[in-house]
Amino acid sequence: MGLIVQKYGGTSVADPERIRAVAEHVAFTRRHGNDVVLVVSAMGKSTDNLIALAEQVSSTRPGREMDMLLTTGEQVSMALVSMALADVGIDAVSLTGDQMGIITDSVHGKAKILEVKADRAREAVAEGKVVVVAGFQGLSTSNEITTLGRGGSDTTAVAIAAALGADSCEIYTDVTGVFTADPRIVPQARKLKRISFEEMLEMAGAGSKVLALRSVEFARNHHVPLHVRSSFTWEPGTWVNAEEPSVEDPIISGIVQDVNESKITVQSVPDRPGISAALFEPLASANVNVDMIVQNSSADGKTDISFTVPKSDLQVALGIVETVAKSIGAAGITHQTDIAKVSLVGAGMKTSPGIAAKMFRVLADEQVNIEMISTSTIRISVVVAASATERACQVLHRAFGLDSGEAYSAPLPDRK
Ligand code: ADP
Ligand code: ASP
Ligand code: MG
Repeated sequence: MGLIVQKYGGTSVADPERIRAVAEHVAFTRRHGNDVVLVVSAMGKSTDNLIALAEQVSSTRPGREMDMLLTTGEQVSMALVSMALADVGIDAVSLTGDQMGIITDSVHGKAKILEVKADRAREAVAEGKVVVVAGFQGLSTSNEITTLGRGGSDTTAVAIAAALGADSCEIYTDVTGVFTADPRIVPQARKLKRISFEEMLEMAGAGSKVLALRSVEFARNHHVPLHVRSSFTWEPGTWVNAEEPSVEDPIISGIVQDVNESKITVQSVPDRPGISAALFEPLASANVNVDMIVQNSSADGKTDISFTVPKSDLQVALGIVETVAKSIGAAGITHQTDIAKVSLVGAGMKTSPGIAAKMFRVLADEQVNIEMISTSTIRISVVVAASATERACQVLHRAFGLDSGEAYSAPLPDRK
């Protein structure tokens, strides 16, 4: 008998009918001889709605209170799913992150899981129960309720799967697997049967929402195979695992868009040792995730430094950068939010030269201006105007031979 951790995202538990469908599927999994631990997200758009509510109430939103608020979303789901399970004759027990023993650091809004004390869940499973855990939440080492950052229920699920030594972790969502591009942006995207941890890490790191970055890191570090699949069709999806890519795999496995970044430019910075450290150290201390950085050296001893940060960190980052800019004698700062990052990811890039050049040519032919570029061994990312995102993804998808020949046909629930 195996143990499977199943994670259901917001659209998978969006209404009573979907919650009952989840209960039926858990019953089906049990009939096939598996124990099941569930991790659930907040229903539909409830996390967004709670954030909007907080914004209407106050412009001072302490991280601690935001976490108190947002964790209620997952608690609604865990209780309702447990009730639906009872209705199909399954003995279920819901657990908050705290009760599940998910211990995190103290960074409200984007806490990291430090440890999972899974004894209580293990005992419940041994008693024949299905455990339903509230995703996205934990208890910090200073005894405060924390959240793990948007999309964090994926991380909860993988961390629990690792702690329990589960055979696999199934991520149920509203698309049928991991595709060569977001099927909402590129309808011709192709479903991947399998993708390596390495490539999935780069896709998640480049901003693909389908899996949270930390969940993939956890899965790779703890050897948890992931199966990303749809709770709308229940068909087999995409396996994310440690298998090495084969020579038959395409050079590019995916195209990723990210519209959640913003760009800050510090103008006319003195070009001398220590300036970058002075700028980026305080940002790091404030837990701002700086992504792309571009610095040009110039003849007159002054240079511009541009970098991207998540839109959610922009206000904090601007506050810090303004202070630093003054202290280092920079001319000023500007920022832009109407940008997007488009990335090509593929393990085959390591052995195929010319991918970057082809990417730039395809974008140039489409009159898409490239504002920033960064690369890793298996990824090339460019920053473009937000308005060019869809066009850029679609032309690149076609140019790199990824179009499937038919449009995505499974239901695509509205997420806006
Ligand atoms: P959930 O609420 O189930 O966690 P998410 O919105 O976090 O769902 O992730 C699923 C969404 O990810 C899909 O609806 C799809 O629009 C988006 N997505 C982005 N890139 C991809 C990709 N390469 N393959 C599949 N889905 C993708
Ligand atoms: N409900 C949280 C969010 O919307 C966590 C999750 O769904 O994974 O980000
Ligand atoms: Mg998600």
